[in-house]
Amino acid sequence: MIQYVSTRGGISPVNFDEAVLQGFAADGGLFVPQTIPKISPERLQALSRLSYTDLAFEILSLFIDPMIIPEKELKKLIQTSFAGFEHPNILPLKPLGSDPALMVMELFHGPTLSFKDIAMGFLINTMDYLLCRRKSRLSLVLATTGDTGPAAAHAAAGKQTLDCWPLYPRGMITREQEQQMTSLAAANVHPVGVDNCPDGGDDLDLVVARLFADPALKNRLHLSSVNSINWCRVMVQSVHYFYGYFRACPTLGDPLVFSVPSGAFGNLFAGFLAREMGLPITEFICANNANKTLHTAFSTGIFKKNDLCQTLSSAIDIVVPYNFWRFLYFSTEKDPKKLTAWMDQFQKTGKILLNKAETHAIQKGFSSVSISDAETLLTLQKSFAGKDPYLLDPHGAVAVAGANALKHRYLPDTKIVCLATAHPAKFPDIMAKALGPDLPDQAFHPSLIQASRICQKLRTCDLEHLESALVLAMEQEAAAREKRHG
Ligand SMILES: *Cc1c(COP(=O)(O)O)cnc(C)c1O
Repeated sequence: MIQYVSTRGGISPVNFDEAVLQGFAADGGLFVPQTIPKISPERLQALSRLSYTDLAFEILSLFIDPMIIPEKELKKLIQTSFAGFEHPNILPLKPLGSDPALMVMELFHGPTLSFKDIAMGFLINTMDYLLCRRKSRLSLVLATTGDTGPAAAHAAAGKQTLDCWPLYPRGMITREQEQQMTSLAAANVHPVGVDNCPDGGDDLDLVVARLFADPALKNRLHLSSVNSINWCRVMVQSVHYFYGYFRACPTLGDPLVFSVPSGAFGNLFAGFLAREMGLPITEFICANNANKTLHTAFSTGIFKKNDLCQTLSSAIDIVVPYNFWRFLYFSTEKDPKKLTAWMDQFQKTGKILLNKAETHAIQKGFSSVSISDAETLLTLQKSFAGKDPYLLDPHGAVAVAGANALKHRYLPDTKIVCLATAHPAKFPDIMAKALGPDLPDQAFHPSLIQASRICQKLRTCDLEHLESALVLAMEQEAAAREKRHG
């Protein structure tokens, strides 16, 4: 029976349902499975022809005990969660221009047009399923750099068991992203635009972490989180690496590199997880923008918080990639004492130094780059200019720029799958900056046009008062709900 422990080692093992509903572990660590399940090459071969949803069922079954979610229910949850995806293959793989080595995997065909939809629908439907059985409810508080908020708001809208409080740094996400959250006519979705966030989404992460650090408050307000600190997110994201590998490689064992635009490191940790399970991925390219905490860690062994730069790829403007703790846990022999010392030191000084052996361990199968805004724009322009134009969003462009920068390192027949994590229509100003004001049809999406025609419903608040204001607003919502339901 698979169980979950904390990277800080301070809790007894729990089942999947507790790990998902609690979000953060009670000792301040992140939930991880006690052991990572392995898949044999024979079994991988058998999985390689499955559709995305059938594959998701097989992979997720390895992490979820059927005593917690029976197989039939799990299948249903997966079907429901991906029913709203626009593309028949859910995550299509496409060639990129004239370079036969490069492909893009489009992760943005979900209801809010970013890769966050992939895991969020399943996570929130699963929470709802578990809460219905427990006759209980939760308030989800989450920080967003622009895509997590819409995905969570959309998935939670109308759910009887959940309230959803997406917090976003006002003026640092696009208008389209804001409207995806504020145009939902759902009484249980409460977007909060927060002013004066010098570190953007990271400032909001800290507020969420402080709320969670108060156990009495957490219990009283039934708080949980669906940021990628939630195990369920990274678990579901591991599936697209299997799917991408099987679609890109005719034969199991063929070399394959994934280039991933990285912020909080949830998507890349999921790739690492897939490889630990036995998928023969040659290497990951960790593609940062100018916020290069991860690139610095991989290239020097120094994991260090820097000041935030606002870039054109705003969803990955992140200075503390918190899933890196999970990665450090598994790449340094799962030692919770070491992790605890590191996390505490990082909290105090904003920095940890890995020794030579530890640095070597994290570099195994990873390389990294930091892509400037100028390179992002140039990559966008170039890939749309050729004979087979392809319109990237700024984040997909970071992945492609990373692949172009490092492809000379690989054997000639190595394919590189670049993850396209958002639809270009979410970033019209940047599209115009790259391509001029006359944008092609691919740069629009009807759902965003629709959202712009609806009155926006939001709260606003200054970062300075956010914590107390949020508690008050949650208490008022709870009181109003009680009144409605008698
Ligand atoms: C969240 C996000 C990323 C980064 O994923 P992480 O798991 O945070 O590393 C990349 N691109 C887009 C468009 C995103 O929304």
